[in-house]
Amino acid sequence: MTPDGSASADALSAAQTAYDAIRARGLKLNMQRGQPSDADFDLSNGLLSTLGETDLSMDGIDLRNYPGGIAGLPSARRMFADYLDVKAENVIVWNNASLELQGFVLTFALLHGVRGSKGPWVAGAEKPKFIVTIPGYDRHFLLLQTLGFDLVTVDMQHDGPHVDAIERLAAEDANIKGLLFVPTYSNPGGETISAAKAQRLAALQAAAPDFTILADDAYRAHHLGTPPETVNFVTLCRDAGHPDRAFVFASTSKITLAGAGLGFVATSEDNIKWMSKYLNAQSIGPNKPEQARHVKFLGSYPGGIDGLMRDHAALIAPKFRAVGETLRAELGEEGDFATWANPQGGYFISLDTAAPVAARVVELADAAGVSLTPAGATYPDGKDPGNRNIRIAPTRPPVGEVYIAMSAVAACIRLATEEYRAG
Ligand code: PLP
Repeated sequence: MTPDGSASADALSAAQTAYDAIRARGLKLNMQRGQPSDADFDLSNGLLSTLGETDLSMDGIDLRNYPGGIAGLPSARRMFADYLDVKAENVIVWNNASLELQGFVLTFALLHGVRGSKGPWVAGAEKPKFIVTIPGYDRHFLLLQTLGFDLVTVDMQHDGPHVDAIERLAAEDANIKGLLFVPTYSNPGGETISAAKAQRLAALQAAAPDFTILADDAYRAHHLGTPPETVNFVTLCRDAGHPDRAFVFASTSKITLAGAGLGFVATSEDNIKWMSKYLNAQSIGPNKPEQARHVKFLGSYPGGIDGLMRDHAALIAPKFRAVGETLRAELGEEGDFATWANPQGGYFISLDTAAPVAARVVELADAAGVSLTPAGATYPDGKDPGNRNIRIAPTRPPVGEVYIAMSAVAACIRLATEEYRAG
């Protein structure tokens, strides 16, 4: 055997021994769920008792009865308009899950077209297309594909989507109807769009007259360091001469309770009318007691939503540090085994293995009792062409478990890489 060969055989055998020791511990840890921890939820337990039997109305509206409007309680619209930096008239506050609102907008567009459309998006012989960023959020891919869109992918860069590529693609193909992406602390990489790129998207000259930007701002307030400059797609698009181009979505799923939050959307007043028409045909209105208790609870939380987000950050930041510290200690800074993001907010850390071994790492981790997001989940159809990307979700487990799980993941990365190098 060559000296190199014996060195790599030694490295493989050391990696195997380390992995076997971890596997023998019989761990049972989960690093794949992008969910708040119980301690995060505990910050919002007060929500559950905020409304008493005498809290029967808000804004002069009976919370128990049907009437109240399709766009949400006025106080809730004001609160979340403030959150999204628009006016109350530009907001619909709906029920749990902003994904549902994204699905509504896409479905209404498919069936009826948006303002500025010549007809329904499904009218042509060809399937409509939508641009998504990679690596990205699997539920965006699932939603668009389930509704019948073909996906067109562009890279997510450190300062937001690859806008050169979007400009080229949108200019060439009138069947590309828009872009769905995460503007702040993207899932999984934690990237935030720059003001310059947001401006270019707002002004973009698309072949489709009804090119639409769906900005899923799920992590808008989920800072772990200094907050970035936030962009306002509603006003940027208006000022660029495309007043109806942008829909900005967010929710309280990762502010209060993921299973009992509020989804909301900001867009032009004309788009609010457009959405309200179709929402009104399928519902008399959203859940008013849920909206009222959010208004009361968040309004009385010390520091409001910002105060609550600071309390979340105090719980979450040590877990992000645990991931970075453990990977650095176990794998070094050089990127011989992996590189990973150091996000300033959001819910995820994106890791790329140096060798094409992501699927093997996830398999080894699973066998060692550490559950990771399936390899490939950050790409359409679950297929990462490079087999390198792994999404790490540190928020749900206690911080002690994050250290243990990441140490195990590092051992899996070492073993999978040495196996690959040994051929
Ligand atoms: N958007 C992004 C980018 C997410 O990461 C998630 C959850 O992980 C969601 C939306 C889900 O949001 P909601 O609960 O409001 O539907």
